[in-house]
Amino acid sequence: DQTMADRSAEVIRTLLQHGYEAYWVGGCVRDEYMGRRVSDMDITTSARPEITASLFPKVIPTGIQHGTVTVLVEDDAFEVTTFRIEGGYEDHRHPTEVAFVGEVKEDLRRRDFTMNAMAIGLDGTWVDPFGGRADIDRCRIRCVGDASLRFREDALRMVRCIRFASVFGFSIAPRTWMGILAERDTLGFIAMERIRSEFEKIMAGPSPLRGLSMFVRSGLYSRMKAPFVYAGHDDRMISAIPLIDPAHAHIRWSLLLLACGIQSPAADELLRGWTFSNKQRQNIVSLMSIQEEWLKLTGANQEGMDKLSWVRLALTHGKESADGWLLMQRALHQAGAPAMAQTANRQLAGWLEEMSIRSLKDLAVTGNELVQALGKRGGPWLGELLGQLLLHAAAGQINNDKESLIDEAKRVVMNHEGS
Ligand code: ATP
Ligand code: MG
Repeated sequence: DQTMADRSAEVIRTLLQHGYEAYWVGGCVRDEYMGRRVSDMDITTSARPEITASLFPKVIPTGIQHGTVTVLVEDDAFEVTTFRIEGGYEDHRHPTEVAFVGEVKEDLRRRDFTMNAMAIGLDGTWVDPFGGRADIDRCRIRCVGDASLRFREDALRMVRCIRFASVFGFSIAPRTWMGILAERDTLGFIAMERIRSEFEKIMAGPSPLRGLSMFVRSGLYSRMKAPFVYAGHDDRMISAIPLIDPAHAHIRWSLLLLACGIQSPAADELLRGWTFSNKQRQNIVSLMSIQEEWLKLTGANQEGMDKLSWVRLALTHGKESADGWLLMQRALHQAGAPAMAQTANRQLAGWLEEMSIRSLKDLAVTGNELVQALGKRGGPWLGELLGQLLLHAAAGQINNDKESLIDEAKRVVMNHEGS
C-alpha cells in the first residue's frame, strides 16, 4: 500500500527526472523531525508553475501567479511551489510581488521561523541554512532574519509564533519576543478570520493557557479588532481544558471564557467579533448559559439540580449541549475546580437519557387540537401551555398521549382561571 509519503516522493522523483530540483519543505519537514504526525506534505521546486502543471495528469492551478500548483495523486493533494521570494509587503499582510529564484536556500529565507525554513531531499539530504534543527533541539522558536522586520512584513507571524510556542511547549527566542513587543501595534491589520484560525490551533493544543498568557503578556490581545477584556483567570478551570478531547472544541472554548470570568452575552458578542460560525458560537454560548444557570441555582455547591430545572435546560439548549455540559463538569471535577459532585452528574445524565421527547414536534398534541379541546381563542397562552406540557411530558410527569395531554391542559387552564 502506498502512503502519502510514497506518493509525495513520486511527485518529487518526477520533477527530478525532468531535471528540476525538488524538496519536501516547511511544516512537514519540521513535524517529521519532531516526530509529530505530518498532516500535509508541501513540496518546493525549481520548476516554474506552468512546467509543474504540465508534468502531472491531475493538477489545480491554486495560485499559479504565486508559483503554487496543487498536484493530485489518488486521494492526496500536494502543494508544489516554485522557489520564490516575496517583496513589497502591503499593510503588514500580503506581499505585493513575488519573484521566482534559482535556489532553495533563497526560498527558505522568506519563511517565518527557522524550524519552518528547512527542506529535505529525496535522498534524505537536509537543507537547513538557519539552524532549524538546533532550535527544535533547544525547544525554541526563532525568526529567520531580523524579527522586527519579519513581523512588520506580515503581522500574522506574531500570532503564529505564539501558536507554535503554545502547541509545542517551546520558548520564544529573546530577540523574536522583542520583535513582537516592537511590532505588536500592526496586529490590527490582520483579518480576524486568520487570527481565529491560529487561536483554534492554540485551543486544540495541550496547553491553551500557555498561548493565552503569551498573548496577554505580549500585549497582542488588547490590539485585536475584537479585543477581549482580560482581568485574569481561574487556573483550576483552565487546567480542565486539556482534559477535554480537542474534537469538542466548543467545550474547551466555553471553559476558557468561563475561566476568564466572561458572561454569556459578552461571550456571544466576542465570538461574533472573532468570526466564529453561528453554530460554533451557539454551541459555546449554550454551555456557558447552562453553567450560569447551575451557578444561579446552587452557587457552585456540589449539588445538581431538580429534575424539572434540568429538563427545562436540556429542552432550551438541546441534548448535545446538556451532554457537553456534563462532560465539562466532569473535567472541572477532575481538575479540582468547583464542580458538581459525580453522583449528581450521574443523576442528571440518567434523567437526560430518560427524556422521551425533546421538542414540541414530538408532543402528541398540536396547538390547534388544544384550541379546539379547550374552546378558547388562540393567543400567547397557547405557546406557554405547549411549553409546559412539553416540559412535564419530557420529565415523565405526564404521558405523551393526546388524552393525557388534553386532560392536563384543562387542569392547568382551570387552575389558572381559578386563581
Ligand atoms: P501547520 O502545522 O499549522 O500546517 P505550517 O508551518 O505547515 O503549520 P502552513 O500555513 O501550512 O503552516 O505553512 C507552510 C509553510 O509556509 C510554513 O512551514 C512556513 O515555511 C511557510 N509560511 C506559512 N505562513 C507563513 C508566514 N505568514 N510567513 C512566512 N512563512 C510562512
Ligand atoms: Mg502545514
